[in-house]
Amino acid sequence: MKYETVMGLEVHVELATKSKLFCACSTEFGSDINENVCPVCAGMPGTSLMVNKKAVELAIAAGLLTNSEISPRITFDKKNYFYPDLPSGYQLTQLYSPICKNGWVEIETDAGKKKINLVQIHLEEDAGKLIHDDWTDTTLIDFNRAAVPLIEIVTRPDFRSAEEVVAFLEKLRSLLSFADVSDCKMQEGSMRCDLNLSVREKGTEKLGTRTEIKNMNSLKAIAAAIAYESQRHIDALETGDEVLIQETRRWDDSIGATFSMRDKEDATDYRVFPNPDIMPVFIDDEWIDAVGSNLPETAQDKFIRLTQGLGLPEYDSEIITRSKNLSNIFDETLKHFNNPKEVANWIIVELLSIAKGDNKGEDDVRIDCRKFAKLIELVDGRTINRNVGKKILSLILEEGIDPVEYAEKNKLGMINDTSLITSTIQEVLSENPKALEEYRGGSKKVHGFFVGQIMRKLGGKANPQIVNKLLVEALKEI
Ligand code: ZN
Ligand code: MN
Repeated sequence: MKYETVMGLEVHVELATKSKLFCACSTEFGSDINENVCPVCAGMPGTSLMVNKKAVELAIAAGLLTNSEISPRITFDKKNYFYPDLPSGYQLTQLYSPICKNGWVEIETDAGKKKINLVQIHLEEDAGKLIHDDWTDTTLIDFNRAAVPLIEIVTRPDFRSAEEVVAFLEKLRSLLSFADVSDCKMQEGSMRCDLNLSVREKGTEKLGTRTEIKNMNSLKAIAAAIAYESQRHIDALETGDEVLIQETRRWDDSIGATFSMRDKEDATDYRVFPNPDIMPVFIDDEWIDAVGSNLPETAQDKFIRLTQGLGLPEYDSEIITRSKNLSNIFDETLKHFNNPKEVANWIIVELLSIAKGDNKGEDDVRIDCRKFAKLIELVDGRTINRNVGKKILSLILEEGIDPVEYAEKNKLGMINDTSLITSTIQEVLSENPKALEEYRGGSKKVHGFFVGQIMRKLGGKANPQIVNKLLVEALKEI
């Protein structure tokens, strides 16, 4: 490999506040169009803006989690540009006094551990959303997202591979989602990233021509865009057919290529200047300490607690601590039924496979943990068998049934009655002389067939251990 790809990231993360950055409008995702708008976030002149304290605290939390220096005094600046999704004609952001500086995040890839340095993290407002309606050839605007608080995390150009970029974004997602700074859902746009990329000959210092790629909404898309764009740069350097220019490009996931973008981002003079309408916010050590001491457990700490404290295998702990939502389900369920290994099994094996079938990600699984715990206890205590348990789990998710009531009402209790099971075995053996013949001929496969038949006769509720034991005994006597 003669070349080296040099990359930096700008990651926008939507903060998990209930209200917007400078007004009390709701930030809820999925509200009706233009439901959450007021004169402040619609950019009307003469309105008075108040800084959202929670947004500042979440940005401080992000700074602490990324080993950043927190600025003692922050202000907001106007970044001027005209675009219909920006009603005031300027974005309120922080150019002159970003809230966090000089942080770093440690990542781990197959190549080992590495520190990714951050230039800064600043607070800013999001823009509205344009909806292009091809049918009527019009563009509509939804201002619900206007002035929703964001942090923008700007890294140094420390990345050399797509693996490092993906590892960084995953680490960031883990840090910020476990601390409730953001849900970091890329598919809902609460975590978005722009990538700067250039290619140079290995061993040289000077950076090559840089392009910026926007519009990537999944880790898979980011990895694919990096591969494509690096190759485009290398081809340009090798053949000279294409001349690289510093520009913004758009990644088209369906085509699998980047395209030059002519829009507001190109060659604009933003004329950034301080906004005198918003008073500076002072951040003292006391406030920083208070935010720090209220930070929830990180994924890493939780992993240690699960493995060393609760004795769970690393594999289970890995899966559970990959998602804040799953680990919440784990903790909550454990409160009602204190058997870590069983709870982990039910989450990893059963709950996740149902979620997968419903096309839901780990973060989107929702379950009543009290009912979930009751169910696991029913199976663990051998009141019902595992297969019946799985069916009940689906019903908890779909209809919210109570597992204990449901099992009682439908008489799903496990059949442990040995005389009933023995007589059922005899029935099945006498009804299937051909299979019995095969068994005598040495076929072990028919054992499973018999178990299936016996279970069916007993409504799937028989204790599988007892069925197995008694069947083996019955077959010995034949
Ligand atoms: Zn508002
Ligand atoms: Mn930004």
